[in-house]
Amino acid sequence: MSSDYDVDVLIAGAGPVGLTAALQLARWGVDVRVVDIKEGPATTSRALNTHSRTLEVYDQMGILGDIAPFGIRVNAFVRHLEDGPFRLEYDYDGLATRFPYMFMVDQVITERVLRGHAAVAGVTVEWDTGLSSFTQDDEGVRAVLNHAGGAEEIVRAKYLWGCDGGHSLVRKTLKLPLQGESTYTWLIADAIVDTPVARDGLHWMFPPEGLVMLFPFPDPHKWRLLDTTGEGDPDRPEEVAARFSAKFSQALGRETRVETPTWVSTFTIQQRAVPAMHVGRCFVSGDAAHVHSPASGQGMNTSIQDAYNLAWKLAMVLHGQADPDLLETYDAERVPVGQALLASTGEVMEVAMTTEEDGRDSDYAFLRQLIRGMSGLALNYADSPLTVGGDTVPDATGPRPGERLTQVDAADADTPGWTALRGAIRQPSWHLLVFAPAEPPHDAPAWLRTHLISPHRPENDRAPGSAATIHDPDQRLHQTLGAGAGDWILVRPDGYLAARGGDFTPETFGRVLACIPHLRLDIGDGSGR
Ligand SMILES: Cc1cc2nc3c(=O)[nH]c(=O)nc-3n(C[C@H](O)[C@H](O)[C@H](O)COP(=O)(O)OP(=O)(O)OC[C@H]3O[C@@H](n4cnc5c(N)ncnc54)[C@H](O)[C@@H]3O)c2cc1C
Repeated sequence: MSSDYDVDVLIAGAGPVGLTAALQLARWGVDVRVVDIKEGPATTSRALNTHSRTLEVYDQMGILGDIAPFGIRVNAFVRHLEDGPFRLEYDYDGLATRFPYMFMVDQVITERVLRGHAAVAGVTVEWDTGLSSFTQDDEGVRAVLNHAGGAEEIVRAKYLWGCDGGHSLVRKTLKLPLQGESTYTWLIADAIVDTPVARDGLHWMFPPEGLVMLFPFPDPHKWRLLDTTGEGDPDRPEEVAARFSAKFSQALGRETRVETPTWVSTFTIQQRAVPAMHVGRCFVSGDAAHVHSPASGQGMNTSIQDAYNLAWKLAMVLHGQADPDLLETYDAERVPVGQALLASTGEVMEVAMTTEEDGRDSDYAFLRQLIRGMSGLALNYADSPLTVGGDTVPDATGPRPGERLTQVDAADADTPGWTALRGAIRQPSWHLLVFAPAEPPHDAPAWLRTHLISPHRPENDRAPGSAATIHDPDQRLHQTLGAGAGDWILVRPDGYLAARGGDFTPETFGRVLACIPHLRLDIGDGSGR
């Protein structure tokens, strides 16, 4: 069959979503090509805010260490009112994370790191190569690529993944409507600003007209500036600087100088999403599937998580480890996320359009809720068809089925047990954690890695079969996961719990596994591939 296809997955678009898709598919051993119509990588900053859940995903993907040196932490949201600044510290309302802050890093750097890791995994972006049309049937997709100079290439792929941005050709060809509305026009600029406001804050200010915002870049004195009136001509950056200087000076009550911006853009906010994210063998992710207000910086964050959700499902189907129906769960899990995003980003946008008068009275409980929502930490798949028995462990503390595994603060994340577990779940696979004295099964499907979690000293433990042992000498892993002797936790490749229970036996676990639809349970070679 392989001779009938040129490639397993053709990805259109090498923005952050296409790159995440390419990297993850390559890590799962899938044959993939990623093409982009542009001559080379984008050079404008665009997404700056990276939220907590995305940082957890970067950690699991193994790319965090290369991104971390290039960012700056934001710890608070600051509203500058007439009687002074009101600082609201980021507080995720009990949602434990290793990353209790917003991380400001230029999208150019995020993409560079993703490209580098994808290249190491064996995929390099084919620039100057646009997808110009495609058709599909039950067997695959026939795509037409246009190379620089006009040469045309026909590619036959098993699947096509449209990560081709807001004007997505894939979405349009699939006739997936981008439903919603156009709203306000805002102006955005990147510039050096001479201001004493805190560099670890995201600032909202209220000049006589509109709202202006400041988001810090890691570079000294550099800020992202936003004006909700949309006034200003991007082709006249000096005038834009003068207008911002006047607005910040008025709002802060002190002279504030803005230098000529390195980048200015106006944009009309679109609040739109598709009702389905795939048709047959073709998928859309990221801006191709949903576009919204940038006020809460969700676009790239949500989009990367689309790709992180779909990549392992495609890989398992291509490796014969799951039935193709597994791919239906991409829509079931991610379409509601895109829809919910329209509501939440819409609310933030409306708050952003308030005057100081409204801002003074605005409900800070709402703002806390907002910060919690932006983090991405509360998102769960409790209602997913892939989640088994969210209520089978009513008394348990720790993460529940459907929730993310890594509900742990920075101090606990660095304990021996968590350090080993965080390393283990970087392997692209499902993971079964079995707490001693129960033993992981001697044989397991090839896509499942098994781990014995033991509080004992290493010399006292030998995990059976291909299982690995994770030692948890101070029992922080046991405590934070709410797990005791004989318990077990099944973790999906994207870090969410599929199921958990007590009194592990291979038989009861086998019955739970059989409840998760679409997975093939034949025992493989234990390699996790
Ligand atoms: C000013 C601004 C500020 C933003 N701030 C934030 C923020 O703080 N936080 C946040 O999370 N998000 C933010 N966003 C949104 C974020 O930039 C996008 O959500 C993100 O880039 C989406 O990634 P993507 O890969 O889906 O699409 P894109 O980044 O648009 O990439 C799509 C790629 O597909 C390529 N392509 C298009 N058509 C074809 C074709 N036919 N064939 C081959 N290739 C094709 C394009 O050349 C492009 O490289 C901001 C956006 C803007 C504009």
